[in-house]
Amino acid sequence: MDIIGLTHDGEGVGRADGFTLFVQGALPGEKVKAQVMKTKKQYGYARLEAILEESPDRLQPPCAIYDKCGGCQLQHLDYAAQLEWKRQHVVDSLRRIGKLHIQGEEQGDLLATGTASSIEEGGIKVMPTIGMDEPWRYRNKAAVPVGVSGFDGGLIAGFYERGSHRIIDMDDCLIQHRENDEMIRVVKQIARELRVKPYNEETGEGILRHVMVRVGVVTGEKMVVLITNSSRLPRQPEWIEHLRAALPGLKSIVHNVNERNTNVIFGDETRVVWGSEVIYDELDGIRFAISARSFYQVNPTQTVSLYRKALEYAALTGTENVIDAYCGIGTISLFLARSAGRVYGVEIVPEAIEDAKRNAELNGIGNAEFEAGPAEVVIPRWRKEGIQADVIVVDPPRKGCDPELLDTILKMQPERVVYVSCNPSTLARDLRILEDGGYRTVEVTPVDMFPHTVHVESVALLVRDGTDR
Ligand code: SAH
Repeated sequence: MDIIGLTHDGEGVGRADGFTLFVQGALPGEKVKAQVMKTKKQYGYARLEAILEESPDRLQPPCAIYDKCGGCQLQHLDYAAQLEWKRQHVVDSLRRIGKLHIQGEEQGDLLATGTASSIEEGGIKVMPTIGMDEPWRYRNKAAVPVGVSGFDGGLIAGFYERGSHRIIDMDDCLIQHRENDEMIRVVKQIARELRVKPYNEETGEGILRHVMVRVGVVTGEKMVVLITNSSRLPRQPEWIEHLRAALPGLKSIVHNVNERNTNVIFGDETRVVWGSEVIYDELDGIRFAISARSFYQVNPTQTVSLYRKALEYAALTGTENVIDAYCGIGTISLFLARSAGRVYGVEIVPEAIEDAKRNAELNGIGNAEFEAGPAEVVIPRWRKEGIQADVIVVDPPRKGCDPELLDTILKMQPERVVYVSCNPSTLARDLRILEDGGYRTVEVTPVDMFPHTVHVESVALLVRDGTDR
């Protein structure tokens, strides 16, 4: 069977007798032998059995558990090809979902007609993906489920197996900072020594559910969060003693209570068991306090590239009013505040807004204000109160912007909108709405925040029609 493409989930797309088959592990350009596993009317799934002709972009994945682990999907693809695939993913989504024109792309549906009518000249410029020089050991945060070994009943922690809820014990993850791997190893060791019962997802019994660890890559500060199915942390004094002894640089131990029978990681109750409520990190010379429940980008090197691109797109001269919607702990807000008149940040998680206010103060930035609440409620109210915006930056979660927010942006008529997105599908959908409302998408830059995974981050610049770039 010939493999002719790669899906957005990283599966090879095969064609056999006019039928489409998805083959995990196969790459475009390859000829493979695959066993059909499951079929639907239009397509099916097949298991890769042998590669008859190899793609020149195929690599031996360096990770020992890559075949089983569900964490990475593209380790078998050369990094330069990953970057090109991510750019193409953005282009495809903008065209198919957003019905947008892309500069330099062939017009017309190549797959449907087999011929391209012409090369697009106007339209959106989609830049090459900004990649990493060293695309390994980049993650500053790990959250792993804890469970019972099917082998000897002991405590394990690691990743869910691809497509299942079986936990694979893991000590070495090549996309994690070494400090995170070490923190997880230490937590497992202590849990075993203290005979803490691992949580069992099926029966709902046991105590320790998840471990989350985070490291400030610039500062070296470390946080350990233990998530348990109990209102108290059993053997708390021993936990504190052992963790402190084993982990230099540890600044914070946090306990979160999740007694619900769900696979959501965190429960509502969070308390500091030892040390500080936050750890600190630095991005491009700005210091950030980060608490356990706050969102903070996981790849600091690429975060700086992303924020610099967002800043470039905002084209600030020092006087502008800027709104940063979905601001988290105020990272983008403070980046922009250095070059803006005033910045207003809004974010739904109250702890993150506390961090954002603290971060403004910490960096002596006096022209940024923050408010906790849904962006789609707070920004319309700001508008009624007379706040105007020259630039609006949005950085929503995967589901994209709320329609109410997009509507408010159209009413506020900022000169520029900078859209940071972790999901090309919802980016495309929202750009279409903004285009229909009088904005023009000028440029999109994908930034590789998550090497070796299928996740695609990008930043887009839109200008109000009639404005020069
Ligand atoms: N710009 C930040 C955070 C981006 S992640 C950064 O780069 O670090 C998206 C953020 O949106 C998360 O912090 C999440 O808590 C927040 N969020 C989710 N839904 C929201 C809503 N309806 N209104 C405001 N913030 C929301």
